[in-house]
Amino acid sequence: MAGEPQADCLFCKIAAGEIPATIVRETPTTLAFRDINPQAPTHVLVIPRVHYADAATLAAGDPGAVVDVLREAGEVAAREKVDGTGYRIVFNTGPGAGQTVFHAHAHVLGGRDLQRLV
Ligand code: C5P
Repeated sequence: MAGEPQADCLFCKIAAGEIPATIVRETPTTLAFRDINPQAPTHVLVIPRVHYADAATLAAGDPGAVVDVLREAGEVAAREKVDGTGYRIVFNTGPGAGQTVFHAHAHVLGGRDLQRLV
């Protein structure tokens, strides 16, 4: 059922504590952990605990969870002290955009000069 943990989902397993991750922050609805392949000095993933395949389906199915993820992205940026210089929040959506894990997640990137994308 939409939103419920999926047995074959890597990020559901991380949220359940079944697979280790370097956790940065936890709330009742979200988990933030360091990306294992960091692309910037700060590279943290923020996931909702509920399972939706990507940001768009999360927004359609559980809009409040999107707010929670974005609020946490800001909290992570402040904690990592990249909020002053600026940081990027990325939701890769679909394989053609580079999404490889189909559990909605925000990349929070900072700590280096980030070229403008658009
Ligand atoms: O947006 P995308 O789906 O490609 O992002 C998935 C991210 O999850 C990757 O940046 C990858 O390095 C990260 N990852 C992780 N821990 C894992 C598996 C993947 O941080 N165990």
